[in-house]
Amino acid sequence: MPLPRARGAGTVGALPELPEIQAHAERLDAAFAGAVLDRFTPLAFTALKTAVPAPDVANGHELVFVGRRGKHLLLDFGVTTFVVHLMQGGRLKVDDKQAAKPRGGQARWQFTDGRALLLTEAGTERKAGVWVVDGDPEDQPPLHGLGPDADKLDPNGLGTLLASHPMRLHGFLRDQHIVAGLGRRLANEVCHRARLSPFANAAKLDRDDVKSLVEAIQVCVNEGLAVERGLPEMSSSADRPGHVHHRVGEPCAVCGDEIRSVEYVRYTVAYCPTCQTGGRVLADNTTSKFLK
Ligand SMILES: [Zn+2]
Repeated sequence: MPLPRARGAGTVGALPELPEIQAHAERLDAAFAGAVLDRFTPLAFTALKTAVPAPDVANGHELVFVGRRGKHLLLDFGVTTFVVHLMQGGRLKVDDKQAAKPRGGQARWQFTDGRALLLTEAGTERKAGVWVVDGDPEDQPPLHGLGPDADKLDPNGLGTLLASHPMRLHGFLRDQHIVAGLGRRLANEVCHRARLSPFANAAKLDRDDVKSLVEAIQVCVNEGLAVERGLPEMSSSADRPGHVHHRVGEPCAVCGDEIRSVEYVRYTVAYCPTCQTGGRVLADNTTSKFLK
């Protein structure tokens, strides 16, 4: 008998979110910090998103650290920073083969010690990319305009952001310009953990709700980090921990009610009616699935 599977799961893979990117940055940092760049080579013409500065300004420079901001990886070479967005199907991995035309190859960093990192992207979307930036990356695309990282928010900070955004909580949590690092999976998980409806009006949440949200973000991010830090490579979406995401139709681990969903073209809002909506089953009233 097939395992129960969330409707819509598998059609669109899940973007890595804050915990996956953070643990991956730590992994790359441990392996590559201190390595000296020989050269950077774009392998697909869509991969490099910036014209200036030229990436070769980093040649001969040491990789100072690999960090994360939102869902971006930062390769800091001191003189310049490569900001990498994996989007949905992108991966940044150790490139053992260094083939001339690697499958899905987007860009390659070769180091003077003979090692290399390869950015690949599965599928045909070609959205993963590399930005080369001078100076503080925070002030420039693609990081410019990102909200604060979700795991850095305290109740005052989150409360202020919520109060000025009268929109559905699930959309608020996923909007990188408001709060950075969360995506479809963690938005589902955070709402469930905080026992709040994904359709709750963000601007109308009270102080207790805000406190629950801050705690839920911490717990969900830390759960993800604990899993990711134990893996040699970034997890695939099905392996990421969760109570509602990819669990539509299964019983809620907290209360036993059936996990329900509202389906959109590119994602699924998954929730537990008993835990989150006073038992009410949500119907989408903005984007009817019959109008897709
Ligand atoms: Zn429940």
